[in-house]
Amino acid sequence: MDSRDSMAIKTKIIKRPKLGFWENIYFPEVIRGILITSSHFWRNLFFHTMHALGLFKAIRAAVTIMYPEEKRRLSPRLRTRHRLTKREDGSPRCVACMMCESVCPANCIYIVAEEHPDPNIEKRPASFDIDLGKCVYCGFCVEACPEDAIRMDTQILDIAAFSREGMKLNMPELLNPNPHYARVVAKS
Ligand code: SF4
Ligand code: SF4
Repeated sequence: MDSRDSMAIKTKIIKRPKLGFWENIYFPEVIRGILITSSHFWRNLFFHTMHALGLFKAIRAAVTIMYPEEKRRLSPRLRTRHRLTKREDGSPRCVACMMCESVCPANCIYIVAEEHPDPNIEKRPASFDIDLGKCVYCGFCVEACPEDAIRMDTQILDIAAFSREGMKLNMPELLNPNPHYARVVAKS
């Protein structure tokens, strides 16, 4: 006997239950959905009106955040899009030591180093790119940096792009993260 026969999987046929008259016309479920939605609407309208009058302030009513124009306030500890910090003259603090590039588990940091014109600083990045399409947001690059030159505190979470190439951030973008991302609103 084939060993596969002895391990044959028993199949159990489950018959599709027949729908009754009310289930077939979907009418009760439609009514139930409308009742649930309208009960939320009237509850929120009532409590927002009461709050405007200074009553029932302890009871919360739902607030709609108009995403993407408005966004929730994010925790300052949240790792968001990267940025490169600057010196007082506006140049990057990065000394192109490659620590972040070496530690990155996703291999998504690409740095080209060049000599710094200041003899007190050994190197600087000629180019510094991060491919957010590969990044796993582990924060190792920030931890590894000896110069506090890279941070993940921009509060920018919009990282969608139309192409893989569009997911790459270059040095000017990292030095000046796009500020149009959000109007931060109070927590609802
Ligand atoms: S957050 Fe992690 S994966 Fe992303 S660039 Fe930094 S080290 Fe690499
Ligand atoms: S670890 Fe810091 S200083 Fe070194 S290359 Fe990365 S960002 Fe620059």
